[in-house]
Amino acid sequence: MNALEVRGVSFAYGRHQALQALDFELAEGHFGALLGPNGAGKSTLIALLTRLYDLQQGDIRIFGHSLRHAPRQALSRLGVVFQPSTLDADLSVEQNLAYHAALHGLPRRLARSRIDEELKRLELAERRHEPVRKLNGGHRRRVEIARALLHQPRLLLLDEASTGLDPAARQALGRHLRNLCREQRLCVLWATHLLDEIEPSDDLLILHHGERVGYGKAREFGDDLALSFARLTGDVALGRGHEREAVRPRLAPARLTEKSATDDATAVIGAKRP
Ligand code: ATP
Repeated sequence: MNALEVRGVSFAYGRHQALQALDFELAEGHFGALLGPNGAGKSTLIALLTRLYDLQQGDIRIFGHSLRHAPRQALSRLGVVFQPSTLDADLSVEQNLAYHAALHGLPRRLARSRIDEELKRLELAERRHEPVRKLNGGHRRRVEIARALLHQPRLLLLDEASTGLDPAARQALGRHLRNLCREQRLCVLWATHLLDEIEPSDDLLILHHGERVGYGKAREFGDDLALSFARLTGDVALGRGHEREAVRPRLAPARLTEKSATDDATAVIGAKRP
């Protein structure tokens, strides 16, 4: 079954077209990467998916429920992790989760058992009584993911959720989410501008100036994802020939150290940053 269907979605800020007739779908249990340089339209899409913005054209279905016509049913299947952390640093891990569960109207006993379950699954059970401020960035992200999963969504959106994490923490986060897809049939949509966060088996959607310029399994884009990305998005990296040899990281990671892969990927996608 499709967890997410985006059909003919266009969105404009006044006269500025941010998304252009976007079409794609993601199946249950799949990990989808949403890749695009700055200004590609990723955040606009996330804002539409979470109904922060109203749809202007087209429709979005979450497990078959239209955001236009059945928004409550659609949104009840959705969990979201936004880029900035929204945890209360003074509260403990458990308190943060309990507060969120209460906001979602989960009965106390059910909330407690879900919190236990999520903390165990995320290997955070021993940290449950610690204030969030004592956790490192990777663990804080895990708490946010645990929180987003408490109401048992079937589709999890993450908007550049690895920002600020070191490479090891980013890798661990990616591994964890892909495990959830495999084991729990969760569907993940992971917005990023970093090539090295993409695995060959991921579904990949590449956005550029609000348009879909690439769509398929990441492995179908070839061994050199950086070069494919550059070709698809025009001038982003093609003008930087010296990088072409260096940026072979993602689909052949063994040949590069993690740090150089990360730096190179960032350099390529970041080429359009002001
Ligand atoms: P980034 O990674 O920099 O956040 P993005 O891929 O998320 O980029 P969006 O933030 O969705 O891209 O922006 C898409 C386009 O819409 C860009 O051209 C941007 O300048 C424009 N835009 C975004 N928000 C607004 C706004 N509130 N008003 C006007 N234009 C906007």
